[in-house]
Amino acid sequence: MTVDPAPSAAGSPPVLPPAVPPAAPRRRGAGWIIGLSLSLVLLLLLAAGTGGAWLIWQQRERVLASRVMSPEQQSTIADAFAAASDKVTATQQATTDYESDRRAWDDEHAQVEEWKTRTDSPLLAVPNPGGSAIPGPDPDGSAFLSSIGADRVQVAFDAGDDNCGYHLSERTGYEIVVGGCYSTRYPSWLFLAWDPGMESSVWPVFVHEAMHWYQYQNYYPAFLAADRAGVTDDQYGPELEADASCRAVYVYGIPASDYVDTSSPCDIEGWYDGWLLDHLASLGVQVTEPVASDYEVLEVVRP
Ligand SMILES: [Zn+2]
Repeated sequence: MTVDPAPSAAGSPPVLPPAVPPAAPRRRGAGWIIGLSLSLVLLLLLAAGTGGAWLIWQQRERVLASRVMSPEQQSTIADAFAAASDKVTATQQATTDYESDRRAWDDEHAQVEEWKTRTDSPLLAVPNPGGSAIPGPDPDGSAFLSSIGADRVQVAFDAGDDNCGYHLSERTGYEIVVGGCYSTRYPSWLFLAWDPGMESSVWPVFVHEAMHWYQYQNYYPAFLAADRAGVTDDQYGPELEADASCRAVYVYGIPASDYVDTSSPCDIEGWYDGWLLDHLASLGVQVTEPVASDYEVLEVVRP
């Protein structure tokens, strides 16, 4: 900004000397008065111009001074910019995380819903040495299965390879065994087989297998989420087994002692419905629906 020192340009009135010199003393007097007046006007204008320039300069200095920040102020502003930038990055990451978790959650639930509609039936490979009826009042287990909402579920009395429990028992070296299996290949079937002499243990094993059906009806998406989180089924296998036996004990009144000498004892102190999900959550598995608000980036609170 420049300031003109000469006042004439600042819109001063057009005061001009007379074009013709005065011929008479009277006129000279008048000319002197005009000259004096002109000088006064010029002086006044010059003073006004200088004062204006000074005021403007002062103002400029004040503005410049107000722009100068202390190191503390500069650092506060730099921090604020850095925090804002971190927050933008964190918010973008949180949005990506939420969208990805949401997609995976929906996908896993859709897979399980599709799986539930499958009606594959096993080919009975090896007849059960114990026969084709569960000892006791519910020979095909349908009354019990119906009572837990598993009307569509049937028992396959099969000692073939699909009966993982029966074969697991054989490998342990026992002479006579009872074993069962629930396989996701056959959503609506429970495998059951036993050797003669093991009749009294068949019912608890049957109920245990039915509890596996329950687990997959209710927790299968969480098992898929475990895969996604890199938690393998080996990592929660013992808990899956114990949870099935404990549900049989705590919910359906099977004596805990019936499972003590099996590969799946109920050894969870204070078991409760939902215990397995909580256990999976403790391993870092997402067991609850992703909610956008859980992904919000919180403001950094500075002391
Ligand atoms: Zn089991």
